[in-house]
Order: sequence, then structure tokens, then C-alpha cells
Amino acid sequence: MTRTRTMEAALIFLSIAHLTAALRCVCQLCTTTNHTCDTGADGACWSSVMLVDGMEKTDRSCMSPAEMKAENVYCFSSRMPNVVKRNCCKTDFCNNETLHIHPGSFDNSDNKKRPLEEPAWGRLELALVILVPSCLLCVGIVVGVFAILGQGCAYNRTHKQDAEEALGDQMLMSTDKCLKDLIYDMSTSGSGSGLPLLVQRTIARTIVLQESIGKGRFGEVWRGKWRGEDVAVKIFSSRDERSWFREAEIYQTIMLRHENILGFIGADNKDNGSWTQLWLVSEYHEHGSLFDYLNRYTVSVEGMIVYAVSIASGLAHLHMEIIGTQGKPAIAHRDIKSKNVLVKKNGTAVIADLGLAVKHDSNTNTIDIPSNHRVGTKRYMAPEILDETINMRSFETFKRADIYALGLVFWELARRCSVRGLHEDFQLPYYDLVPSDPSIEDMRKVVCDQKLRPNIPNQWQSCEALRVMGKLMRECWYANAAARLTALRVKKTISQVIVIKDIKD
Ligand code: ADP
Ligand code: MG
Repeated sequence: MTRTRTMEAALIFLSIAHLTAALRCVCQLCTTTNHTCDTGADGACWSSVMLVDGMEKTDRSCMSPAEMKAENVYCFSSRMPNVVKRNCCKTDFCNNETLHIHPGSFDNSDNKKRPLEEPAWGRLELALVILVPSCLLCVGIVVGVFAILGQGCAYNRTHKQDAEEALGDQMLMSTDKCLKDLIYDMSTSGSGSGLPLLVQRTIARTIVLQESIGKGRFGEVWRGKWRGEDVAVKIFSSRDERSWFREAEIYQTIMLRHENILGFIGADNKDNGSWTQLWLVSEYHEHGSLFDYLNRYTVSVEGMIVYAVSIASGLAHLHMEIIGTQGKPAIAHRDIKSKNVLVKKNGTAVIADLGLAVKHDSNTNTIDIPSNHRVGTKRYMAPEILDETINMRSFETFKRADIYALGLVFWELARRCSVRGLHEDFQLPYYDLVPSDPSIEDMRKVVCDQKLRPNIPNQWQSCEALRVMGKLMRECWYANAAARLTALRVKKTISQVIVIKDIKD
């Protein structure tokens, strides 16, 4: 009994010693007479093979615990398995094995017998001494491998990110340019679709969030600071990853940049270990949405015209296909509304929130994503969407639905146009005909069955600009989608109001 206990204790001690003791390894480059080295406690032996000029070059040596900590990626894997292979192991002379780049060429010829000194004990002791530590060793190795793998992954991940961020930093550090110039430089010299991804990520990771400025369909929008400049950060929850990806993808459509489309800066998906933060960074507009602005302020006739021209220009640019290598596909927005138009400080506007947009491939006459028919905001849905008569296969129909919604935004805008101090209060379209959160059915009854449209006040007839706006709205609201104006036509018609006004002045 006592003998067995002593044996057990000895075995446990032995096995622990086995796991932690210094190892002796083969060392090709060592100048010691027998070409061996010692690892120190918790070290490892390693062997590697590398292809140099088509020839396999092997190397073997020791790795101290400190080196292992810093280099466990080295032990763990190679990113170029066809060029370099490495192996670390934790028994004496275990690195005597011969590695090969191509497994088929493996040969064991130079695997020498490991010089393990076997203790001269009895059979039972011997069996126990060999079997039990071996089992413990196996468990230890499995645990160790998992630990190393875990560390290796974390190490790989953080180091890969560090390296990428360093590169992004380098690209940014060499300049003290403001965002606008940076975007201009990089988008004109690059692919025409925006900042390089590395730079996007580096910018995103150095933004300091300041305050929440808006809430929409997906998560929250924040004002943030980057190098002292304000930026807007739309934060998606990780379950809306697809929406985040889609919106980032649309914003990076080649040649999309336009003064009346929200200026996209970058996208970033930051994994903090427990959840993924999905960011879309864009230019910040302190006045917020047109909805917010019109709720607070009225606009002058000139102001109304400039807003109307800029929204129509932004939509015309979205809708337009540009042919050529640096061309742009036609894009339909599918959620035009006053909350998705932002007001700039210079009195113009930009179209934002491209999350539901679809692109047209004119070569195949197809739309880039399977479009489920009723997306967007019910209040702004065109009659053909409400009654489901829309032809999903024709891209034109999506553009026409945008135009219908554009007419509604113009109506919201024109109501706030102050002429000789007279104007109306802010209202959403159909405010007097449907409840505050209307259902499709509520909208369909009013828009399709009763064929009602927002009221155009008589007094608009006495102001040229408002009269033109009223006429444009009606031409955007036709039940027959094909009869509606195009964004380009809308833009040209209001621009002419400016010209007429200039001549009169
Ligand atoms: P969602 O897809 O959730 O509707 P949006 O992109 O429409 O998100 O943004 C929601 C709101 O956040 C907008 O209506 C607006 O008030 C505010 N917002 C969004 N982007 C900006 C920005 N770049 N500058 C200022 N405010 C913004
Ligand atoms: Mg929105």
C-alpha cells in the first residue's frame, strides 16, 4: 500500500517534472560538440523546413519560454505552408524528426532513435512509469496545444490587425489633410469608389464618439470627432450585419460620390471579443435631416429652390447610369423621405441612408439583390407598391417609385416656404388622411382606392416658384408610374426657376 502511494507520488512528480522540465533538443546551428541545446523550464524544441531555390532547407533548435511567448505564432503555424513549415514539440530531442514541405515526400530515414534514458526498474514500475506519464503528457499536450492555438489565434488576430492599422496609420500620418481633401485625393487617384479599406478602418478606430444624434431603422447615429473634425457614425447592431454590409457596399459604388449624396468616409467592423461593432462613418451635417430642419425652420423661396434642386440632383445622379470603365450603375434609393435627406450648412441638401438601395446591371438587365417588394416607409410608398402591381423585374419601376416619394418630400418642403411671412406648419404627407403610424392598408385605401394626394394650397399659385413646385409634385404623383417625370427632368425644371428668377432680378 505504502509502496503504491510512494509510486503514485513519484509518478505525479515525474509527470509534472516531465511537463515543466528543461528539454534537450537537436540544434543544427549550435557549436556545441554534440549539436544539442537546452530549452530552460517550459521551453520547446523546434524544427523547420523551408524551400530555398526549390530545395528543402531544414533547421532545428531550442526555444526558451520567453521566446515561446513572443514567438508562439512561430511555433504554431506558417502562413505559407507551401514554402515554410515549422513544428514545436515538448520532449527531449523531439525535433529530430524531418519535416517536408510536401507530405508525399516524407521519409523517415534520418529519424534517429531518441536518446531516452530508461530507468532500470521492475516491469510493473516500468509500465507505470511509461504509461501514466505518457497519458498525463498526452493530456498536457492536448491542453497545451489548445492553449497555444488559442494564444496563436489571438496573437495572429491582434498582430494582423496591428500590422494593418500600422499601415493605415502610415498612410494617414504622412498627411495632416482634413477628411474632405483626403477623400478627394484618394478617390480621384484610386478606384473612384472611396478611401482604401485600411485607411477607412484606421480612421474609424481613432474616432471618439461624442453624442447620439439620431435613431433609425438600424441602431443609432452618433456625432464623433476625428482629428478635431466632426463625423457621423451610424452604429449597427451585430444582428444587422447584412444591412451594414449592404449600405457600405452601395456607398462604395464606383463613381457614386456627388455633392448631393451623403459623403461616405468608411466602414469598420470591430470585434471587441464579445460582440462586433459595425460602423459606417460619413460626413456630419449639424442641421440633421430635412425633417428635423423643416420642423424647426421655415425656408425662403430661394432656399426652397436650392434644396429642391439639390435633392433632385442627388436623385438624378443616383438614377443615372454612367457607361465606361469608370462608369456607375443606375441605383434606385427605395426609401426617399425627409428623414433621409440631410441639410448642409451651405443651404444645400444631400441624400442619405442608402441601406435599401438597389443597383441595376444593364448588361443583364437585372437587379443586384433579390428585391422583396415592399421595403421602405409605408407613408412614402408609391401606389403600385401599395397595391402590389409593381413589376419587380423592371428597374425603371423602382426609379419611378423614388420619384413619387420625391414629390412628397417637395410637398413637405414647399409648405415651409415663407412668402411675405406666410407659410404652413410642418406636416408629413397624408397627415390628415391616415393615422400616425399607418399600415399598408391605411395607405392603400387613401392612395390607390380613393386616389388622394396631398393638398396643394391655392396660395401657391401666386408665387412662381411655389406654382412650379406644385406642378412638379402632381407630375411626380401620377398613378401611372410611366407618366411621372424623371429625376433629371425635375432637376432641370426647378433649375429653370432659378434662371427665370435671376433674369427678373
Ligand atoms: P436609418 O437607416 O437607421 O434610418 P439614417 O442613416 O437614416 O439611419 O439616419 C437616421 C437619422 O440620423 C437621420 O434621420 C438623421 O437625423 C441622423 N443622421 C444620419 N446621418 C447623419 C449625418 N451624416 N449627419 C447628421 N445627422 C445624421
Ligand atoms: Mg433613415
